[in-house]
Amino acid sequence: MDISEVGGRQEGKAAKRALMIVISGPSGVGKDLLVTWMRAAHPRRHYAVTATTRAMREGERNGADYFFVSRERFSGMIANGELLEWALVYGNYYGVPKAQVTSALASGRDVVVKIDVQGAMTIREIMPDAVFIFLTPPSSVELLRRLTMRRSEEAEALAMRLAEADREMAEAVKFDYVVVHGTNRTDEALEEVEACIKRAREGRRWGSCV
Ligand code: 5GP
Repeated sequence: MDISEVGGRQEGKAAKRALMIVISGPSGVGKDLLVTWMRAAHPRRHYAVTATTRAMREGERNGADYFFVSRERFSGMIANGELLEWALVYGNYYGVPKAQVTSALASGRDVVVKIDVQGAMTIREIMPDAVFIFLTPPSSVELLRRLTMRRSEEAEALAMRLAEADREMAEAVKFDYVVVHGTNRTDEALEEVEACIKRAREGRRWGSCV
């Protein structure tokens, strides 16, 4: 059975196939913020916590933002087949633990994965029934401003993210839906994302969601 075929029963409701929801887009587009809002609005969904070898940033929590692991542990996870997908992103390893996703889907809970573009495309190969949503900034100037304001990176790392963002933006066409996430417009973006999820459940994987 395809992993994306895993279905389940929601408490007290008729069986409904759980959906894998992939939220992607370039670094700095506000994936974290959007998913935080989504979590508040839809707490029953499972929000995948991915593993990374990058250093913890101020304010982050192990097990909540990421599972922060050593390179040795990460290599072990790859070797043991524990990851649904993994990638080297800006010099650090990131990967989605498989067990989390399969058990949530099997229990009938929709799963939300927030991931970079290459990871999203890998998941598309494994789980073609998942819904793929690409968040885009209103303009490249806006993205540059957000990345610069973040100040969590050294200049070299920032330049790497900007170059990568250019490449990632070109991949938007490969997604089911593209949603603009403007500054202070998370409410609008979330509304559109939810409309896209509804459309995907209805089997309409094209066009505008609003
Ligand atoms: P950050 O270090 O800024 O938290 O994340 C860097 C990038 O890695 C982001 O675009 C984020 O979406 C992506 N990322 C986070 N987890 C995963 C994962 O499990 N797999 C892949 N391929 N990318 C991930």
